[in-house]
Amino acid sequence: MKFNFTVHRYQIIFVILVFILTGSVKIVSKGTQQPYAAMQQRYPHSVALTFDDGPYPGGSTHKLLDILENENVKATFFVVGSHSRKNPELMKLIASKGHEFGGHTYNHRHIKKLTRNALLNELEITRTIIKNTTGKNTYLFRPPGGQYSKKNLSDASLSGYTTVLWSVLPKDCESSTTSEDIIQNVLSNTRPNGIILLHMGRERTLEALPKIICMLRLRGFKFLTVSQMMLENRNPNENSRN
Ligand SMILES: [Zn+2]
Repeated sequence: MKFNFTVHRYQIIFVILVFILTGSVKIVSKGTQQPYAAMQQRYPHSVALTFDDGPYPGGSTHKLLDILENENVKATFFVVGSHSRKNPELMKLIASKGHEFGGHTYNHRHIKKLTRNALLNELEITRTIIKNTTGKNTYLFRPPGGQYSKKNLSDASLSGYTTVLWSVLPKDCESSTTSEDIIQNVLSNTRPNGIILLHMGRERTLEALPKIICMLRLRGFKFLTVSQMMLENRNPNENSRN
């Protein structure tokens, strides 16, 4: 089974390769409680917020979860396996709030030169840690640092993983980026079915987030997890019956 998103020329990168092996992608978030038809009228466009690299201790994960909860937004967290292993309580907390997980390798490795076995080892270890800490199974995967080869993507997909890249990259992990830069970048570059890449553990990201959510909603966007958006794009009629 193959899935394609709309690609906008002006977007930085927007690629999702999906070769879903039987039952490999699960929807783990229930999303908004509004009836779907009413939500479509009010928010005709979909967008996914994604957060990479965590979970980090020290309060930033709690702050992020509080913002998302206050705004009634479910997001997708691409977690690093080693961070997840060290912070099982944070993993459980993220899961308890209804968010979705994806893997981001065990050691935040750049995968371009990894053999197929080495790559799959990174993916499997991380998936197992997510499963063991939260009970949630995920085959979503995002390569660290934006570094990947076609072979990496093929290797991952042939093993049932869905590689999720992004369409909006506000570079919130760079020290010169301000919260206002993040807001402006997101508002300038977000298109329907976009995937916004943000990072955990960044104060400027936390500062920017409430305004990003508010402004995108005013522009008619609803926030879905990556899996929800994939499902919506695959068969919109299916969702309208809900
Ligand atoms: Zn990363």
